[in-house]
Amino acid sequence: MLGKIEHIGIAVKDLEASNALFKALLGVEHYKIEEVASEFVKTSFFKAGDNKIELLEATSEHSAIAKYLEKKGEGIHHIAFDVEDIHAEMKRLEKEGFRLLNKEPKRGADNKLVCFIHPKSANGVLVELCQEIPKETE
Ligand code: ZN
Repeated sequence: MLGKIEHIGIAVKDLEASNALFKALLGVEHYKIEEVASEFVKTSFFKAGDNKIELLEATSEHSAIAKYLEKKGEGIHHIAFDVEDIHAEMKRLEKEGFRLLNKEPKRGADNKLVCFIHPKSANGVLVELCQEIPKETE
């Protein structure tokens, strides 16, 4: 089963402008900026209480974020759930008929192993599974 919502991902056109906007909205500064070169995205993270918001900016036209912005414009891009065993959850969800976007977990931002579920198989919601990478294996 999936755990708590780990973060909500929001696609933005201009990370710097959106960092300022979300700082004004949430009343806190982002706590990290991280580029995920393999996904052609630059991300920033905010904490609001127990919740995390991830802003995503495309670093290349090949980025899924660039395609998303082109089609749908800025807005909520995905919901990420915490999982304890990503491999087991991927197997379970595949059996349930969900379409996984990657066959193996990938390394995502914020020290996580991630896997995405195709929005077409989840009522239009792009779902991200994420499992914290244990510090020992770094
Ligand atoms: Zn995410």
